[in-house]
Amino acid sequence: MQSTKIEWATHSSNPIMAFNIHTNKRGHYCTKVSRGCSNCYAERINLEWGNKLEYTAQNAKNIRFELNHDELKKIRDFKKPARVFLCDMTDFAHDLIPDTMIIKLIATLIQARPWVHSLLLTKRIQRIAKLFTDPKFIQAIFTEIYGELPPATTQELFGTPSSQTVIRLGLDSQSPGAMFQWPPQNIHIGTSIEDQKTLWQRGHYLAHLTRAGWTTYYSLEPMIGPVDYENVKLPPVGPEVTTLDLPRAPYFTNYLRGTDDTPLVHGIILGGESGQGAVPLHPELPRTIRDTCIKHRIPYFFKQWGHWLPVENTKTPAWQHGGPPRDWPWNEIDPRIEKDPTEPWRYFALGKTQTGNTLDQRQHLYIPNRDCKNITQQEWLQTAKEHAA
Ligand code: SF4
Repeated sequence: MQSTKIEWATHSSNPIMAFNIHTNKRGHYCTKVSRGCSNCYAERINLEWGNKLEYTAQNAKNIRFELNHDELKKIRDFKKPARVFLCDMTDFAHDLIPDTMIIKLIATLIQARPWVHSLLLTKRIQRIAKLFTDPKFIQAIFTEIYGELPPATTQELFGTPSSQTVIRLGLDSQSPGAMFQWPPQNIHIGTSIEDQKTLWQRGHYLAHLTRAGWTTYYSLEPMIGPVDYENVKLPPVGPEVTTLDLPRAPYFTNYLRGTDDTPLVHGIILGGESGQGAVPLHPELPRTIRDTCIKHRIPYFFKQWGHWLPVENTKTPAWQHGGPPRDWPWNEIDPRIEKDPTEPWRYFALGKTQTGNTLDQRQHLYIPNRDCKNITQQEWLQTAKEHAA
């Protein structure tokens, strides 16, 4: 667990490790599932500093996953308020990571102090939606923590899947685990999407988790194409869909708020792509998402422009900082732009540390939270400190 420069977290931690079985070098492993993985920084770091294996399917036979229990205990025992971004070097829901490992992970995170929030992110939300709403999963978590699930509580835990359930265990109220709250309020589940197609693939599953009481968020980073949260389409038919019965859910007219006005997600984090081959972010994309968030009262966090800075006027000082100015072939990315000959934007390769996160003359830094309040991380930490005191 270490402090992080990621703007919407205070710490990062990677308790799931992947060992190279030939060299025994420790590192990480994952495989690519969509275009958003093309510039995977985790793979680059792993090649340089980790087990030196590429994130390819062929390397599955060369790794062994292990859970770092000491690292997990650090989160569990951490005393100060923190927002810990977990597993940013892999996808914790990768098919090769067994359910038993995920159960141990979640069981430990639950036991952290209420003001230590764990932020998980996956592109494989189908698996998590199925697993995290399965009664057998909650039973396994409970067993992991307490040894066995008291029969009297079974009905209470499983009987109200769409709301928070609190079980008081009659232990000393100061001891960790005196209260078993399900789903846990200190764990946030996010899914990454990068364009409309990935929203259609993953959005229903995240909404399903939200309806089941989990705290959830979208990460649109890197955002590489337009996303319209009011354009709903059923996910591809598969075993998960039939199990969860998502398409017929009556609350679904958009991906942000249900027809009963309850949120279907608790926040959106958005950022442009960085690194070699990064796609520039047209200002209309983060703007549209911001406006949709305002309309549906969902917190919005604009993290960064990424590698390219959009500049409206070629005489701005941005010319002086970047490399040679370059027009971007928008028709490769966003067909709407091609149709607009008045499009005034040009893009400058300044790198993410220079491009910043100012959108329409201001920053947008509201973090995901259960109440969907517009609060910044700073404000959350201040409130958490008062509770922790
Ligand atoms: S899911 Fe995440 S860690 Fe895995 S390859 Fe894609 S970007 Fe990299």
